[in-house]
Amino acid sequence: MDDFPLIIIGGGPAGLMAAASAGNRPTLLIESGPKPGRKLLITAAGQCNITHRGSIPELLARYNGRERFLRPALYGFTNEEVIAFFQDRGVETFFDEKDRCLPRSLSARDVLHALLQACRDRGITLHQGDRVIAAEKTAGGFRVITKTRNFTCSRLIIATGGKSFPKTGSDGSGYQLAEQLGHPVIPPRPALTGIESDHFALVSLAGLSFEDRTIEVYRNGKRAGRYRGNLLITHKGLSGPVIINSSRNMRPGDELRLNFADLSLENLNERWNRSPKNGGSRTVGLFLKGLDIPRRLIPELLGSLDPEHSLSQVKKQDRIRLLNDLTAYPATLDRLQGWNTAMVTAGGADTAKFDPKTMESRLVKGLYFAGEVMDVDGDSGGYNLQAAFSTGFLAGQSAGNAEA
Ligand SMILES: Cc1cc2nc3c(=O)[nH]c(=O)nc-3n(C[C@H](O)[C@H](O)[C@H](O)COP(=O)(O)OP(=O)(O)OC[C@H]3O[C@@H](n4cnc5c(N)ncnc54)[C@H](O)[C@@H]3O)c2cc1C
Repeated sequence: MDDFPLIIIGGGPAGLMAAASAGNRPTLLIESGPKPGRKLLITAAGQCNITHRGSIPELLARYNGRERFLRPALYGFTNEEVIAFFQDRGVETFFDEKDRCLPRSLSARDVLHALLQACRDRGITLHQGDRVIAAEKTAGGFRVITKTRNFTCSRLIIATGGKSFPKTGSDGSGYQLAEQLGHPVIPPRPALTGIESDHFALVSLAGLSFEDRTIEVYRNGKRAGRYRGNLLITHKGLSGPVIINSSRNMRPGDELRLNFADLSLENLNERWNRSPKNGGSRTVGLFLKGLDIPRRLIPELLGSLDPEHSLSQVKKQDRIRLLNDLTAYPATLDRLQGWNTAMVTAGGADTAKFDPKTMESRLVKGLYFAGEVMDVDGDSGGYNLQAAFSTGFLAGQSAGNAEA
């Protein structure tokens, strides 16, 4: 006789939603931390960006090539259904100016409370403060071994999260469990993170931000990506949404080109050439002040150039350098910021081995996965919690309703 028909490993948003959705089957939720939902509590600086406004196709486009895999999950439990789930449990929500959905109380604690209440309503048994160290296939299902106990079950959901912010409990141990059960894991790497650049000349301008700028990423001399969004200079390199959202596609050694002026080189050249004729002795300083760039950047761009010089006095090589810096300022990516700052993990249990309609393993019957432990990651803006809720819901429903 199984200890529990269904065991869920991991009490994050995916595991809690799976537990809340698993029907009548008695369920054990095992959480290594002293309490479930520790990462949820720090989302959006404690305010919890639950999901994002938009149609499902719009949402699906934000998961870096995992649209097909996530389609059944997101249509099965949509952003509107996520909002209704929380509303039904007393959590009013609103959309901010960026179309992010947050609880009206701006408290992640309320979101966690609603999930825990939903689990209590279902009579879930919560075993917390004990870490699962191994999972094995048995003739009738699975044996789950924690530091202190052994449990058996016929269905198992792994919802152990990724590797980022390991202090919250998601330390990547789920990957070992997946591998123990024969599941391939795409090597995990930090995503939604800033980048460090050891020789970036502008770190003294830390805190300076640019609205809606284009950055290009070059690898081995070839363009590997082009992204647009707000950019922030930090004391170690670069951050801001445009960097954070594209960091999953960047590698150490990549060369970034930052278009501060938000103009093409041709455009800028044209402006430069036009200026002396129309403006007589227009100076370099005035030329730069006429661009949409922060004033603090100007001395750094000028270098040894005299801002009082008229444009016609500037040597050709100085002009080329200045205009290149305005449109393609170089920064070498030495490293992505690590697991303690990355908001999510790219990589994880290979989605090709799961049935997207159920989240069940194609390799091991009765084994399901949900949330960030899988090779699924989205942009910032509520997409990652939406994926955790949708895949958790689907895994819970499938495992809860499957024939024993
Ligand atoms: C600072 C920060 C801010 C964020 N803000 C947002 C946001 O506003 N909106 C958004 O959409 N996303 C946000 N994210 C991402 C989001 O939090 C995650 O994508 C989401 O929490 C993933 O849910 P999950 O349930 O898959 O995993 P997790 O939340 O990581 O939960 C996994 C759980 O499993 C437990 N566990 C792990 N291993 C074991 C084991 N061996 N035995 C037992 N238990 C185990 C862990 O303790 C943990 O509680 C943010 C992330 C960070 C770090």
